[in-house]
Amino acid sequence: ALAGSLVVGALIVVLVTRLIHYTPAQVNQIERAINQGEFIPFYQPVIDIESGKLVGCEVLVRWVKPDGTTISPGAFIGLAEQTGLAIPMTRHLMQTVVNDLEKDYAQRPGLKVAINLFNHHFTDLEIIQDVENIFGPSAIAYNQVVLEITERAPLESLAQAKVIMRKLQRLGCRLALDDAGTGHGGLAYLQELGLDIVKIDKMFIDQLGKGRIGESITHTLTDLAHELDMDVVAEGVERIEQVAHLRRYGIRQAQGFLFAPALPASQYLALVKKLGVA
Ligand code: C2E
Ligand code: CA
Ligand code: CA
Ligand code: CA
Repeated sequence: ALAGSLVVGALIVVLVTRLIHYTPAQVNQIERAINQGEFIPFYQPVIDIESGKLVGCEVLVRWVKPDGTTISPGAFIGLAEQTGLAIPMTRHLMQTVVNDLEKDYAQRPGLKVAINLFNHHFTDLEIIQDVENIFGPSAIAYNQVVLEITERAPLESLAQAKVIMRKLQRLGCRLALDDAGTGHGGLAYLQELGLDIVKIDKMFIDQLGKGRIGESITHTLTDLAHELDMDVVAEGVERIEQVAHLRRYGIRQAQGFLFAPALPASQYLALVKKLGVA
């Protein structure tokens, strides 16, 4: 019996070390950062290029260490995901977003705020509870909340993901397909998932004005999105001449360094006051 349990024990150790690709110290670091409030939401404005006013913003997380060092998500998002801390991190972030924005958002019901979700969120109903618990009692209405789903990584179960998406939409939230054109879904995702917004990846927006294949991908995605009654957002707009192309395609919403990078809450809210709401 002892030999048996040793074998089972050894098997479990082997299995667990094969499943995890991180150290307990790293888990600890992320957990501590969540609890200390070191994950800070920054806000990148989304512009209505026709009126020059604001549609809203996308929340982009920054890890601000106690010594002031700021780390970009590329360096820790993957770790948060692998350590199972993506969901608590997003929960903390949404709560901070409410604290930062609710006063101004309550006065401007047209303004939107987009939150990036992890694909892992679409395996479990927990995200519905988090959205209800955090935005429900807040002065930010559900219809001001956009939830972004990236096409870069596959969804584990399309059927389960669709159930969760419908529940979020029934609350009043809007759903966006992020990084459209880059990934796993292809054009099928657009039709299948019943989303409200398509965000065309920077990779294609970069090609505008340079001819080539990127232009026709932007064109195709936009036509299909409009056919399906979805809004289109162009990501990563850096050059003024890209804006003329967006207008020509009938794309009204854009984000990018041409307009503004992700800003601290106070700077974003100052811009809201300066530009007004589309
Ligand atoms: P994303 O969701 O596609 O976000 C857009 C990224 O492009 C952001 O990088 C933004 O700062 C950058 N960007 C925006 N405009 C321009 C531009 O004109 N030129 C260039 N070169 N870059 C531009 P960031 O903040 O480093 O985030 C990288 C990725 O990390 C995001 O890509 C997203 O996938 C992920 N991420 C960031 N914050 C969160 C979060 O709170 N939750 C989740 N799940 N993922 C996040
Ligand atoms: Ca995004
Ligand atoms: Ca509310
Ligand atoms: Ca994106």
